[in-house]
Formats: sequence, C-alpha cells, structure tokens
Amino acid sequence: MSTVVYPGSFNPITYGHRDIIERALRIFDNVVVAIGTSADKDPASYLAGRIELCEQALEEFGDSVVVEGFNNLLVDYVRSKNTRFIVRGLRTMSDFDYEFQMIEMNQTLDADLEYVLLPTSRQWSFLSSSRVREIAGLGGDINEFVHPAVAAHYQQ
Ligand code: ADP
Repeated sequence: MSTVVYPGSFNPITYGHRDIIERALRIFDNVVVAIGTSADKDPASYLAGRIELCEQALEEFGDSVVVEGFNNLLVDYVRSKNTRFIVRGLRTMSDFDYEFQMIEMNQTLDADLEYVLLPTSRQWSFLSSSRVREIAGLGGDINEFVHPAVAAHYQQ
C-alpha cells in the first residue's frame, strides 16, 4: 500500500484541499492529512476541533484518508508513517516560491524525500483558507468553498 502525507494548516479545510486529496488518491492508495501545529500557537483542544472538522469534510473517502495532528519535524513525521512521499498543492507563483524553499530545506534534512506537487484545478485556484475565514468573519456565505460541516462550524 502506498501512502502520501499531505501536510498543512487546513484552517479550515476547503474544496481546494479536497481536490488535491482526491487527485493524490489517483496516485497513492492512502493520504495522511497532517495538520501542523506548534504548542505555543495552537492549543491542543483547538487542534482536536480542526482534526474533527477535517474528518467530517473527508468522510466520503473512507479509510483511504486519515487525519492527524503533528508537532514534530515534518521529515520525522513522514518517516513515522512509513513513507517518503509528501504532496502539496500549487496555486500561484508565490506558492511555488514558498514550496521550493520548503522542499530544499526538507530534502537537505532527508535526501530521500520526494515531493509531489499538484497544480490546483482551475475552479479552486483563487481559494485559500484565509480568504474563507475572512468571508465567514464578515458574515458571508462560504458554502461554495467548504464542506457543509465546515460552513456550519464557522456560521454558527
Ligand atoms: P500551509 O499553511 O502549510 O500552506 P494550507 O492549509 O494553507 O497550509 O495549505 C496546505 C496545502 O494545500 C498547500 O500545499 C497549499 O498550496 C495547498 N492548497 C491550499 N488551497 C489550495 C487550493 N485552492 N488549490 C490547490 N492547493 C491548495
């Protein structure tokens, strides 16, 4: 069984993330959605809520998608999942710059890591978690961008 780790903030998970997961599952048997956190910024209870929302939003994929939090070095986390593959999504050139820096850094730490970079589907190229939070915060409808469970969480 081949596994890929999809690390990110997922704050919140959007249909852009879902699209990357769906496409990663055409290449790999399993995707581990790994929600990054740091003890100071991200209290555990908050992370638990984010994991639960991701699980609800990704229920359709069944056992092929697992959601976890991690707070150690990404390269160590990936190895603990018995894989060396990481998937990330690319929207813009600025994503590309950012990803490239991360790739170089992580491949310096572990030369055997392989990154799979999937370009966003055109439909979601403008979509970001921060924009979704902004719209929800101003009382806008986010149902077009996120799973109903996520929308309900932000609009309660
Ligand atoms: P991070 O803070 O690590 O960038 P995000 O949750 O914002 O975490 O993003 C995780 C990954 O998902 C990144 O590779 C990002 O480029 C990708 N991503 C986010 N939104 C989209 C989208 N609309 N289309 C494709 N990829 C996306």
